[in-house]
Amino acid sequence: MKDATSTVRVRFAPSPTGHLHIGGARTALFNYLYARHTGGVFILRIEDTDRERSKEEYTAAILASMAWLGLEWDEGPLFQSKREGLYQAGIDRLLAEKKAYRCYCSTEELEEKRKLAEANKQKPMYDGTCRDKDLPARDAPYVVRFRSHNSGVTDFLDLIKGRIVFENKELDDLIIRRSDGSPTYNFTVVIDDMDMGVTHVIRGDDHVNNTPRQIQIFEALGYPVPAFAHVPLMLGPDRSRLSKRHGAKSMTEYIDEGYLPEAMVNYLARLGWSHGDQEIFSIAELIEKFDIADVGKSAGVFNPEKLEWLNAHYIKESDPKALAGRLLPFIEARGYGSPDAPWLARAVVTLQERSKTLVEMAEMGGFYFTDEIAYDPKAAAKFLTADVAAPFRALAERFGSVSPWETGAIEAAFAEVIEGLGLTLAKLAQPLRVALTGKTVSPGIFEVIEVIGRDRVIERIGRAVAFIEGNEKK
Ligand code: GLU
Repeated sequence: MKDATSTVRVRFAPSPTGHLHIGGARTALFNYLYARHTGGVFILRIEDTDRERSKEEYTAAILASMAWLGLEWDEGPLFQSKREGLYQAGIDRLLAEKKAYRCYCSTEELEEKRKLAEANKQKPMYDGTCRDKDLPARDAPYVVRFRSHNSGVTDFLDLIKGRIVFENKELDDLIIRRSDGSPTYNFTVVIDDMDMGVTHVIRGDDHVNNTPRQIQIFEALGYPVPAFAHVPLMLGPDRSRLSKRHGAKSMTEYIDEGYLPEAMVNYLARLGWSHGDQEIFSIAELIEKFDIADVGKSAGVFNPEKLEWLNAHYIKESDPKALAGRLLPFIEARGYGSPDAPWLARAVVTLQERSKTLVEMAEMGGFYFTDEIAYDPKAAAKFLTADVAAPFRALAERFGSVSPWETGAIEAAFAEVIEGLGLTLAKLAQPLRVALTGKTVSPGIFEVIEVIGRDRVIERIGRAVAFIEGNEKK
């Protein structure tokens, strides 16, 4: 066991019974930020003792999500499933010290008492039948219960919620070892927090009611009780508990949808924590400014538009080369092959301003990555008309000699052609956009022309002319 020192030691302790969601990710982030802010240690512990519900694929997804968010842990991941011996030793110690006892009450007896209590409108609690009997181990199923205090209060000063007081008579004797021999959650958490020298427990406030039980176990084991900070739960915009129906997703889904980790971290940090009215925070700034004591008492409200807004912001601000690297898997996933990196970075520059996610960027920029562009039928009907066939030919001809192949020279060549034909820019720009991208909305047309490249542009114009003439014949 490590001595409790002045070094802050925090842990994030997810149960691998699902993916990492907004609330869990925020708890992970707060632990990480607090550790970095104080120069402390961030521990990752996987609470996988629920054998039925824990799955390795969820553990993998949680680790991948943490890595994506950049929440590097210093110790772990430690798996509760591999620490069974430690828990059993702790239970045996409490039994030997008579701070826990064997209980042989059968499930049927307990069930009957529970029903009776309910019928009498009493809170169903274990009635202490075996508490003072000091029953030895014998060949019959039993559980081990923790002898909790019968009177007085258990209280603690929550770093977020302030003082929280529990009447001990409301807490019955908790089972710490089930009849199949497995230790229970409230016990394993305490043993682990002790063993890992945890000084601050930062977790969701669905665990507030477990805290007095855990405090009593810490005390029974003679270990200083850590500080607790219970982060208020997340709400949907309608102020009910956050769920999928509010559009909240797991980190895995946000990764697949093309969110940037910087945007997610910034978003999560601002859920329940603020620093004046500042909205944009780099991770370095968060580490500098974040203190767990500044997390608000009220619940964070999930707002998908704000997350999108932040994502668009970070996409805009990204270095195009780095962003191209992040975009590449999304392009490949859409069957567009693997474009060359410097060229992709040029395409990215034109798309950055108008994409909210990397998925949007890969889809919007589809016309760069494939030559098989489909014309939007409405756009084609409106703009690919007989009168633009001749100007298109003239443009293709003129583009053949533009040098250097750059936005400025391309724009000048375009101006020359429309002037020569007595046309306006508006008359030809939109048909050209449809010819090159299939759509009426795209990045700036001259940038698009430059990035697509001379040969492919001339080819696409030729295809549009053929399309127009084919239509004419019909
Ligand atoms: N494994 C618990 C959960 O996922 C967290 C326990 C804790 O942080 O103490 O809710």
